[in-house]
Amino acid sequence: MNIVIFGPPGAGKGTQSNFIAKKFKLHQLSTGELLRKEMINKTELGQQIESIINSGNLVSDQIVSDLIEKYVSDKTFKNRLIFDGYPRNLPQVKNLDSLLKKYDQKISIVLKLSVSLETIIKRIFERKTLEKRADDNDNIAIKRYETYEKNIKPVMEFYKKTNLLTVVNGEKSISEISDEISGLIEGIKGWLWEIWQYKYARIYNS
Ligand code: ADP
Repeated sequence: MNIVIFGPPGAGKGTQSNFIAKKFKLHQLSTGELLRKEMINKTELGQQIESIINSGNLVSDQIVSDLIEKYVSDKTFKNRLIFDGYPRNLPQVKNLDSLLKKYDQKISIVLKLSVSLETIIKRIFERKTLEKRADDNDNIAIKRYETYEKNIKPVMEFYKKTNLLTVVNGEKSISEISDEISGLIEGIKGWLWEIWQYKYARIYNS
């Protein structure tokens, strides 16, 4: 099963994706993390995107698409991906849709973590003191929130139409949200079978 999770910056996507990945033996594909890694390693791409990310804007759809295709096309991750931070706008939705078709995969559920702007500002302030992300200063954080708001409506509309969208209240505690998400995933037909297949293949191939 492939899962899409989205929400405003500071909604807790990363934390919840990490939890789901461990519990359901999936691979967390965080476009933000991948891009930050490029910057830390000072690759050519990293240098190219640094100012865009640090100003709170989105990097080009093509760059992110190339990054995620590496994972979607990789058989080890087939139907085992959590898309954390992708898609973020309508062209990315369409792109993900065609990439998944190309590699014979589909999305099982789309989770939207909804959180108020007030909570987000509070959380980003806390994260800023803990992690020191260059894009977590107050003005840039608000800019990232605006970028999110501006682009996300058509993403939601699309997944609503395909009946994949489920809204989760992101204001609750981390464990309450994790429990809710676990329940939703366990409600997906065939989820246990999918994990078994993966575990069995690993034992069999080792
Ligand atoms: P947040 O959701 O807290 O802003 P992320 O780690 O998801 O943090 O993303 C950090 C930054 O990386 C974004 O502000 C954006 O510049 C870039 N980014 C991440 N994912 C995408 C994407 N799908 N398309 C374009 N840019 C992206």
